[in-house]
Formats: sequence, C-alpha cells, structure tokens
Amino acid sequence: MIDTEIQNQLHTALKTYFGYDSFRGQQQDIIENVLQKKDTLVIMPTGGGKSICFQIPAVVLEGLTLVISPLIALMKDQVDGLNANGIKAAFYNSSQSAEEQQNIIEQAITKEIKLLYVAPESLSGLENLVNEKYISCVAIDEAHCISSWGHDFRPSYQQLGFLKKQLPNTPIIALTATADKATRQDIIEQLEIPHADQFVASFDRKNIELEVRPADARAKQIINFIKKHPGQSGIVYCLSRKNTEQIAKKLNDNGINTDCYHAGLSFEDRTRVQEDFIFDKTQVVCATVAFGMGIDKSNVRWVIHHNMPKNIEGYYQEIGRSGRDGLKAKALLFHSYADVIQLRKFASGASNEEVQIAKLERMKQFSEATTCRRKILLSYFGELLADNCGNCDVCKNPPKFFDGTVIAQKILSTITRVHQQEAIGTLIDVLRGANNANILDKGLNRIKTFGIGNDISWKDWQHYIIQLINQGICEIAFHKNNALQLTEFSNKVLFKGLKVYLTHPVHITEQVKTTVASKRKTVNSNSLFERLRKLRYRISLEENLPAYLIFNDATLKEMERVRPMSESEFLTISGVGQRKMEVYGDEFIAEILDFMGSKIKKPKKTDTHLVTYELYKSGLSIEEISVQRKLKAPTIYSHIAKLYADGKDINMYDFVSKSDVEAVHKAKIELESPSTLKEYFEYFNEQMDYFKIRLALSVVDKDA
Ligand code: ADP
Ligand code: ZN
Repeated sequence: MIDTEIQNQLHTALKTYFGYDSFRGQQQDIIENVLQKKDTLVIMPTGGGKSICFQIPAVVLEGLTLVISPLIALMKDQVDGLNANGIKAAFYNSSQSAEEQQNIIEQAITKEIKLLYVAPESLSGLENLVNEKYISCVAIDEAHCISSWGHDFRPSYQQLGFLKKQLPNTPIIALTATADKATRQDIIEQLEIPHADQFVASFDRKNIELEVRPADARAKQIINFIKKHPGQSGIVYCLSRKNTEQIAKKLNDNGINTDCYHAGLSFEDRTRVQEDFIFDKTQVVCATVAFGMGIDKSNVRWVIHHNMPKNIEGYYQEIGRSGRDGLKAKALLFHSYADVIQLRKFASGASNEEVQIAKLERMKQFSEATTCRRKILLSYFGELLADNCGNCDVCKNPPKFFDGTVIAQKILSTITRVHQQEAIGTLIDVLRGANNANILDKGLNRIKTFGIGNDISWKDWQHYIIQLINQGICEIAFHKNNALQLTEFSNKVLFKGLKVYLTHPVHITEQVKTTVASKRKTVNSNSLFERLRKLRYRISLEENLPAYLIFNDATLKEMERVRPMSESEFLTISGVGQRKMEVYGDEFIAEILDFMGSKIKKPKKTDTHLVTYELYKSGLSIEEISVQRKLKAPTIYSHIAKLYADGKDINMYDFVSKSDVEAVHKAKIELESPSTLKEYFEYFNEQMDYFKIRLALSVVDKDA
C-alpha cells in the first residue's frame, strides 16, 4: 500500500494538471502499482484513460519517464496535450534534425522534461540516456504492436526486451486496448516482465449507442444521419478506396464538409486530412481502416461502417474511436450479405483462412442479432453483462416475432425445385415471378412456385431468407456460387409441422423519426455550448493546437451547465487544470459573462455603465474599454453621457469640443428641445455623429 500523503499528492496532481477530481476505474491502483516499482500490464479499451496511468507517475517521480509510442503523429498530439496542461514533455524521432535531437537529450539529462516520447526505431539514438541514473519509469504504449498475434504488428517493437535488461529496477508499464490472451502473454514474454501485475478494465463503452441497419440506399441514409447531427465530427469506414471516394463526393455534394483517406494517397495528403479532421476543419472523413490508429481526437461523435468489418476486434476498435470524452456517441453499422460474401473471398486462401472465416461468422451473428448487441460484443471479449444494455437498437426496439411458417415453406420448396443450385438473388426472382433473362434462360419460369410471392417485396424476401439461414433452416454453400441449400431442419419445416418465427423487416424512416430532434438542434446553434466551441476553434487556429487539446467537449458541456463566472468557479470544472485556467480562463469566462449578459438584458444593463466607469477611471481609452467589454464604441459613449449626467467625474471635453457643445446648444434652442436625437442629426445634415450629439447634449443639459 501507498501512504496517504502520496495518495493526496496523486489527487493534487490530477487536479492541478488535468483538472479532474477523481481517478476513473482502476487508474489509481495502476498508478500506485507503478509507484511501487512493479511492472504493470494495462488492458483498457480505447478512451478508457490509459495515458494518465503513466503521465501521473511521470509527474510525481523524480527522473524521466520514457514513453515508447509507435506513431509520430500520436506522439506529437500527446506532447502538445501535456504541454498545454503544464507538464514538460518532448518527443524524439527521425523527423527531427540532429541538433534538435541533441537538444532534447540535454533537456532530459538536466531534468527539464518529465516525459520523453520515442519511437522504437529511434531508441538506438538514446543509448546514453537509457540508464537508471536518468530514467524512473518506462511506458510502452500500444503494446500489442509487439505481438505478431495482434493486428498491428511492428517488428521494431520486438527489440524492446533489452529495456528490462538495461533497467532492471525501473518499473515498466505496458498498455494496450487489445484484449485477447495470446497477445497479452506475448507482451509479457517479449518485454521480459514475467511478474507484471495485470489490470484488465471493463470493455464496456456504455456511452456508445449501437445500431445495425440493412444496407439499403446507404448513401442516402448516411447523408440523413449526418444532417441529423449537424457540426458533429464523424468517420465513415468503407471497404475500398473507391468507396471512400464515392461516398465523400456524395457527402460534399450535399454540403457536408468531407475528406477521404486511404492508402493510395500520398503521405502529405494523408497528414493533411488527418490534421484537418483533428482541427475540426473537416467534419467527416470517409476512410479505409488505415485511418484512426494515429488519432486521439476525443470529440468524434459517431462512427459509421458503410461496410461490414472483418471481425469483431476491428469493429470494436473502430467504434471505440468515438466518444472518448465519455459523452454520448453513436456507432451505426450497415449490414449486407454482399459484404459477407466479399469478405469470405478475401479470406479464402489466407494462411489462417479458418480463423478468419470463424471471426467473420461471429461478426455476422452480431449484425443479425435479435438480442442485446452489447451483450454479444462483450461476451466476445469474455465479459458477461448481467442486464440488457438499453443503448442498442435491439434493446430500444425489440424485434416482434410472428408465425412465419408459410413464408419459410415457400422459400424452402423453391430451393428444392431449383435443385439447390441458385443463390439468394435468383431465388427471390423466382418467388416474385420476375421475367428476366436469367430466369427465362434457365427455364425457372416453369417451376411450380414461380411467382407465388409477388405480394412481398424483394428486400423483405431477402430479410426472411437471411433469418432462415441464421436459424439453420437453410444455408449458403459458399463454395458452390453461394447457392442456397437445405438442412436437416428444412424437412421438419416442410413436412413435420415445425413452426418458424420470423421478425418483420425494419424500415428506416430517418426523416420522420427525426424532425423534432433536428428542429431542436437548429435552435441550439446559438447555445452557450456552440459559442464556447467557436471560441475554442478560434484559439485552436491561433495556437495551432487541436481543439480538443484545449478543452474537450465534455469540459465545454460542463461549462455550459455550471456557467463559471470567476476564476475559482472556473477551476472547479472537470478538465480545467491550473495552467489552462491561467491561459484560457479569461476568454472563456468573458464569453460566458457575455452570453449571460445578452440573456438577462434588463437587470444587467442598469449598472453596466458603472463597469465602464471603473475602466474609465483606470485610465483606459474608449476604444480600449470597448475591446475589453466587447461592446461597440457608441455604447461606451452612451455610458459616458449617462455617467456625466449622473454627476460622475468625467472630463467631457476629452470627447467633444467646446464648439460642438455650442452648436448643439444652438440647435436645441432653434428646434425647441426636440425629443429625439434624429432631429439633431438631420439639423446637422447628418454631419455630426450620434454619439457626439449625445455627449454634447449631456453637457448642455447639465450646465443649464
Ligand atoms: P486511451 O489512451 O485509453 O484511449 P485517453 O488516455 O486518451 O484514453 O483518455 C480518454 C479521455 O478520457 C481523455 O479525454 C482523458 O482526458 C479523459 N480522462 C482520463 N482519465 C480521466 C479521469 N480520471 N476523469 C475524467 N476524464 C478522464
Ligand atoms: Zn442492448
């Protein structure tokens, strides 16, 4: 155990640097483990909060924490984030000049920095530094890259075993979001940390809503979905480069700011797409799976799978890129049989074909589930959920079953009559009595069940057949051109009275479902949250720092709710640490005050001129006051006029000349004390500004 004094120190560091009040899940246990110099393996889903597990030790430990990280883009973001929080950090990699590198090594040796990020390839340049004299802790991020079992194997990770040899008394903390046991074991063996304590967090990401829809008119559905979520960042994952380009074009044509990202782009283009997305300059990226690994953006609000992923690991990792800030996020998957067939083709011939196909099968079962989807996902990762989640499409809209025996019999007898030779498409054509070339060539229009099902739509037939396949009542022979085959259950349904229960197809009517919600959304564009978001965006451009590294969405939401109006109130917001308060506090508080001011007009207005008076007394010019108060100059002049009329000590002749005052005095007599300023304005042929007339009048009236 660690004594209370150190525990207090940890909490203080968490609040001071990160602005958080408490540790999440197992973070504190993990940190204490590291501080006791024990090797540690952390398995936590994306967005779970792994970084803090080594960043807090880095702050409280005496020497340097060396962080091994696979991607340069990722490193840069993390280092920027740490520096924004007031923690001194740097990275060391091949993108830097020899001079820069030398400089960084010196900073590490002189303890100017607390964390140093390095790619494994560059470790050789740090020979002198990898010494217990300087290093207090080693963190290995994305540790699954070490394992050829994992899905992101990087050969350069395999040499990391030398670290433990060279630093035998230094704790190593390895972190990953990949859960399976083989990978875990591999990490421990290769890093030579056999006694590492393992911390496996729950993989449940409750804030991500799960939904699966049939792949009809995908582009249209995607456009509607995005329009329903205006301004929200999201990723559309596609199977092919061509797909990414096509969808991106359609989205852009519909006014949605979209880029595409795939391996065919140059390095520069990929970097630009990624940066623009991180900076909120592009709202949507259509990408192949290559996109996302290097992205730590915490405000991705949704992920859409235009195509079915190869396996549940990939799917879960990709949807995990949404909602890292813990706020609500959505994952929408389009399920199509054509994708399944395509993915099977990709897998065939691979050295581990069987494994791949088994994994694809699990993915398919997930997509077709009629029970809580989160339960299925988590059970895949060996975690059992006691209750249904309530945040997936199945929980929200439980399917209603009906007696579909007759429908099933029609399908099965047609399969029999086409001699189990035809795939889904042709079978449906027969059922619906289509007179196309394929049917006529094969003479399928002459079989007895031709046209017995033209009362049911093509899509609905497809939906029913897929359910029969899922229930094992018929099956697809992938090696025989995907022809539908009978199974032992088929006969029971056809001849032995076995009943079949089916669900009705769900027809997505996005527009109808959403009008109310989208109306609410448009009204919200003037909300305080939106104003804070705009302010954050402006600062992010000025400082060349991704918006979410300034404050994440969760922090802005809390500001909107709490409306801090002083520094001490601002500091209570989760995500506001000491440094961010000092750097950004004023601007955000001003924005909140301004928002409040424009909401509660009357009561505030009455003494707003007194605020101006204070600034006036402190020697500011009208222009400076107007900038500071974000009020227009004429407004400030009207305050001055009122202050003067109220007898405050104002030197009016700083603002108007004696001759102006005399001219206005004369006008007043000639016009017989008119009631509006406009009459004066016209009297002077629009040559004297309103504010001057007002100022001069207050002198005339006072002196009268
Ligand atoms: P991971 O590396 O596991 O994907 P991160 O370390 O990027 O996750 O953390 C995800 C988000 O959660 C970040 O925005 C981070 O600031 C936030 N976070 C981490 N720990 C806490 C905490 N104790 N309280 C509140 N937010 C936290
Ligand atoms: Zn559910």
